[in-house]
Amino acid sequence: MRHIFKCKDCFDLLMDYLEESLDPETHKKLDVHFAACPSCLNFLKSYRACSEMTQQLQDQQVEIPQEVEDRLKTFLQEKM
Ligand SMILES: [Zn+2]
Repeated sequence: MRHIFKCKDCFDLLMDYLEESLDPETHKKLDVHFAACPSCLNFLKSYRACSEMTQQLQDQQVEIPQEVEDRLKTFLQEKM
């Protein structure tokens, strides 16, 4: 039986996905899941926007805003 990624699998791999350090097959499976799962796609978008912002401002040692962190936590709790 083909392994279908669950939302939790995606969260576990999200960092590697964004760094593009996954093997192509796993990366593709995540793409498929994100295409079919709007909530994960939204999560991915906000996570990516957040990490880009952090990268841009890393010289200034900016931390993730509390509001964003709370939102991510709430999202994860709802999913698990
Ligand atoms: Zn999902």
